[in-house]
Formats: sequence, structure tokens, C-alpha cells
Amino acid sequence: MDIAVVGSNNVDLITYIDRMPKLGETLEAPDFEMGCGGKGANQAIAASRLGAEVRMVTRVGTDIFAANTVKNFADNGIDTEWVLETEGPSGVAPIFVDKDSNNSIVIVKGANGQLTPEDVAAAGDAIAECQLLVLQLEIPLETVYAAIDLAVERGVPVLLNPAPADPALDMAYVGKCTYFVPNETELSLLVGRDVESLDEIRDAGAEILARSELENLIVTLGSRGSLWLTRDDEVLVPAHAVDAVDSTGAGDAFIGCFSTQITRGLSVPEALEQASLYAANSVTKRGTQYSYATADEFEEWKN
Ligand code: ATP
Repeated sequence: MDIAVVGSNNVDLITYIDRMPKLGETLEAPDFEMGCGGKGANQAIAASRLGAEVRMVTRVGTDIFAANTVKNFADNGIDTEWVLETEGPSGVAPIFVDKDSNNSIVIVKGANGQLTPEDVAAAGDAIAECQLLVLQLEIPLETVYAAIDLAVERGVPVLLNPAPADPALDMAYVGKCTYFVPNETELSLLVGRDVESLDEIRDAGAEILARSELENLIVTLGSRGSLWLTRDDEVLVPAHAVDAVDSTGAGDAFIGCFSTQITRGLSVPEALEQASLYAANSVTKRGTQYSYATADEFEEWKN
């Protein structure tokens, strides 16, 4: 096994409407789509489509969405032995998108909120068999911490994507990770100030490195690319210029690809270059998981 993802899964319920409803109003919507999402699942799917062997440790509910999520993992070649079931709703995200592409999103954590440190302990051997553990923050923080502790104890490197941003994140745990990958918003929240210019991002990054024992900080910067910072080096990887159609899920595509390349033995700058290409490819297509290329599609697009 290459990668264990301990994280979330969601079902996106996307309703396309002409305009947002007012309070108490009932509207007819011209279109509706259901899609699989959740940052953990998205990153797992991207990695698996690129050919990595991926194991997902997650929880689904006992509703009609659960079977769909498990099938989606299985169809994408992901190991589902540690997809556990919790009585109650699955993670769902009702989303409204109006005709100007404004969106309004509600996230129901559902079963994702019930993934516990005990689940991580039970899946311990399955996680320890993998070359890399990938984590995000859509599950309880104590579960993220338990997974980091387990991985460190069992000698598995950890990549933590601190999304969505959580001010309670303990920097001691950030220091235990091999790779920490926030976007600009998450970095800004962690240092408690706005960061916009590259210099402000560098300063904030240096602060994160100084406050922890972290070795590799990678900040994703949307269409500006990504910045890798270590204690004594820095590499800026520009984004690839593409006709962007929908950047939703670009961060997850980036992390799925970076993780895959790292487990294949590429250096950090080489893996970042591939991740940057893969994420750029994903923004040329609408949707999240729909926009993640397979290894063959990615090779063809690059040539
Ligand atoms: P999301 O939450 O939408 O998944 P994110 O905020 O986590 O995204 P971003 O920093 O927006 O992540 O994007 C991740 C990477 O994707 C960037 O570092 C860049 O390499 C690539 N990327 C994002 N937007 C574009 C774009 N418009 N054109 C080309 N590449 C892009």
C-alpha cells in the first residue's frame, strides 16, 4: 500500500438555480447533480486515479448515500476495508449555485464527526503498512492527532493539509508531520494576520517553521502556484497557465498527486512540479472528482 488517507467523505447535492432563494421562499431549480466529495475522499481518488495504492479510513452513515460512497471508492480502486459505518446520516453538502456561479454551501459533518481515535487505533496495522499517511481537518482534531501519533510511532511519514482552517490546531502536531500543506487562507489564520504578497507569505511560513519542528512547508497559492519552504531553502513552483473553468477541488488534486509522486520516490520539487500540472489539468474541467485525470489521461494531456 502506498497511501493511507484518514479523513472525510461527503455527498455533494448541487442544485443549480437562477438566483438564491429568499428566507421562506420556495423556488424551482432547473438542474440538480449529485457528486462524491469530502477532502479526504477527493485526495484519495486523485491519488488512486494516478495509480497509487490507496486505503481509506473513514466513516459513512446508514443512509442511502453510504452505499454510493463505498461504491465510488471501490470503482476507483481504493481499499475500503476501513470504511466504517455509523448509525445516522453520512457527510452531506447541500450546495446552491446560481447563474452567476455564486455558491452557498452547507456542510453536514454526519458520520465524519464520528471517526474516533479508537478507529485509528483499530486501523493501526493497516495504516502502518502504507508509505505515507495523508490527513485533513474535516474529522475531529483528536482523531487527526491520534493518527499523527500512530504514524510517528510506526515510522510512517505524514502529510497534513489543514483544511478547513482551524485556529485550534496544535503546532506541536504540525511539527510531527513531514509535509504541512496549507493554502493562503489557512496560513493566514495560523499566523493570525492577512498574508497576500509573496514576502508576507514567506514571513508567515518562516513563523510556522520557527514555531514548530516542521521540515517541509508547502503553501498553495491558487493561480500563483505553490511555495516550498524549509529551514534553509525555498522553491516557488509557478502554476501552469490554463483556461480555468472550475478551480473547485484543485487543492485536493494537488495533494493527491504530490502524495503519489512522493511515494514513487520523486524529490519534493519534482513532486510539486507534477502536482502543479495535475491541479492545472483539473481546473480545465468542471466538478471536483470528475475533473481528476487518470494516469493515462494525465500523460496524454502533458504531451
Ligand atoms: P480548493 O479548496 O478549491 O481545493 P485550495 O485553496 O486548497 O483549493 P489552491 O491554492 O487554490 O488550493 O490550488 C492548489 C494548486 O492548484 C495551486 O498551488 C496551483 O498549482 C493549482 N491551481 C489552482 N488554481 C489554478 C489555476 N487557475 N490555474 C492553474 N493552476 C491552478
